Amino acid sequence: MNLKELYQEIILDHGKNPRNLGKTENFNKDASGHNPLCGDKVHVFLKLDENKKVEDISFEGQGCAISMASASIMTDLVKGKEENEVKEIVKDFLEMIKEAPELKSKNLKDDEKTKLMCLSGVKQYPMRVKCATLSWHTLTTAIDKTQDEINKGNN
Ligand code: ZN
Repeated sequence: MNLKELYQEIILDHGKNPRNLGKTENFNKDASGHNPLCGDKVHVFLKLDENKKVEDISFEGQGCAISMASASIMTDLVKGKEENEVKEIVKDFLEMIKEAPELKSKNLKDDEKTKLMCLSGVKQYPMRVKCATLSWHTLTTAIDKTQDEINKGNN
């Protein structure tokens, strides 16, 4: 199996059997995102503990295989990491998916980088980049949302 086949295999697997699908119990951050170009929708639920570590994360949504696989892989990777590590990983991923040849984050293990690099193929298809980044932007929105905004019910 070459690298490209391995990548496709992982995307298909996550697209068919998304990890962390559903609504996390007792989530304290959430946000929804929409990619009108493709019709993808995603809602990310996050539970941060008192040390701002991601205790649990899940998502609900519907869309193309790329958007669902990306959300699945993302939730898998950020679970158990601290908020500032998560932000750094998001930034690293967004740079990679747009132009950077590789991931630089020290917060990612080699096997985690391999999973993310599966999505690097969308670089050749600018329309699909938004499918891959939707859940990541939504995660950032959820993390950055202040308690005030949550109380007001802004989404
Ligand atoms: Zn899509």
